[in-house]
Amino acid sequence: KTSLKLLGNQAKYAHLNAFTSLANGETVLETTAAAASIPNPNPLSGRLIAVKDNICTKDLRTTAASRILKGFTSPYDATVVRQLKDAGAIVAGKTNMDEFGMGSHNTHSYFGAAELSRREGEHLSSGGSSGGSALAVASGQCWAALGTDTGGSVRLPAAYTGVIGFKPSYGLLSRWGVIAYANSLDTVGILGSSVNDIQHIFEKLNVHDPQDPTSLLRRTRTRIDSNPSKSLQSDRSTERLRIGIPLDYNISTLDPMVRRTWTRALRMLESRGHTLHQVSLPATRHALSAYYILAPAEASSNLAKYDGVRYGSRAEGIDGTPESVLFAKTRGQGFGAEVRRRILLGAFSLSAQAIDNYFIQAQKVRRLVQQDFDDIFSTQNPLQDSPPELKSEEKVDVLLCPTAPTLPPTLASVKDQDPLNAYMNDVFTVPASLAGLPAISVPVGLELDDRDPELFNENIKQTAGMQIIGQYGDDPLVLSVAAELQ
Ligand code: GLN
Repeated sequence: KTSLKLLGNQAKYAHLNAFTSLANGETVLETTAAAASIPNPNPLSGRLIAVKDNICTKDLRTTAASRILKGFTSPYDATVVRQLKDAGAIVAGKTNMDEFGMGSHNTHSYFGAAELSRREGEHLSSGGSSGGSALAVASGQCWAALGTDTGGSVRLPAAYTGVIGFKPSYGLLSRWGVIAYANSLDTVGILGSSVNDIQHIFEKLNVHDPQDPTSLLRRTRTRIDSNPSKSLQSDRSTERLRIGIPLDYNISTLDPMVRRTWTRALRMLESRGHTLHQVSLPATRHALSAYYILAPAEASSNLAKYDGVRYGSRAEGIDGTPESVLFAKTRGQGFGAEVRRRILLGAFSLSAQAIDNYFIQAQKVRRLVQQDFDDIFSTQNPLQDSPPELKSEEKVDVLLCPTAPTLPPTLASVKDQDPLNAYMNDVFTVPASLAGLPAISVPVGLELDDRDPELFNENIKQTAGMQIIGQYGDDPLVLSVAAELQ
């Protein structure tokens, strides 16, 4: 049944441009039929799951929405894809994205922008870089989707399209077979329409992978699960949580509608018995600048391998020319403008004359951002030794803040936007990425208790994404608060 829906929807939703390639319809039908014949199917069996096009699949092309990888098919499945398949899920297709994950509106795709269009004439940003994955879920073309989140790429599209987007703690989900953008920040994330669905997928993927050197070891996972500071907080029950309101996120450019929805979401949690507490995260205001030094620096190194020799397509008519010409031409043609900008930025901030003033400073800011979070969370960061400084009565269990400063902008307005303004969109998502913390975006109705489950009908009720951020390893708590808000 689901597969027929997919096939039907392909034509109906083609204008969204959510997919870069689609699974073979026959195979989908056969696999779904096979799954349906299993007596006690597990929650993932027969489910259609879309996969962002920077996650390797051996049956479908993997292009990272870049011209340089246009014809590339991976010889193997990424670990997360294999885990989904082993659980009986079906890869619905590969989803559109900003080239190599660099962008916030899906406009930097070789295949053209994936667009949020819920009615005639509407052309909105689907968010980026996992815009295609978010749209695929929002339009019902799949049950759930995988994305990647380096600085907000799962949470921002989720917020814009009205679905749920979860970025787990860094190191929990395998990155093996995921095309690297900025390794120290890259996290596989899950998009879905209910927290329950996301939880089922998270459970399947949340295991150590020996192929990924940054995958958390089994013994570290066990230590996190039995974090002594968690059990010491005997007053911490999920019925009565301390919810933090980070005042530094109340910026002047925050859309008043988003601010009102934030207040509404806080009241909803308060009415369920949780308490609200103002907290301060002073390093937050430097987080965005630090991110836009660190991410391009790592990217410039990661993307060096696309030279037309070892990886990617080669510019035509240049065989026999010196290597430098071959590399320059291939890369000049193969990468889009934003990717080239990031490579230049990154190469500069890592250069001998700039590294002290840029890269090293940004690393220090990253540490301060991390410390800010450690200072306000009631549980100790299981990866750090030093105990936090605040007294426990001043601490909070999770934070609640908007995912993005505005509602989805029109594509026309973002197409001519200068890069700095585009980077501003990530101001609320980047801090949790720098600190490797679990964070989830949940759509909350702009009007009182009036969320619209039918996103694609004529009477669209708008939502704004609200973000819940937790201490490292507190993923289950973040998910449980999200379930209360959805
Ligand atoms: N918009 C951010 C960037 O361009 C985040 C991207 C991401 O999380 N992949 O870097």
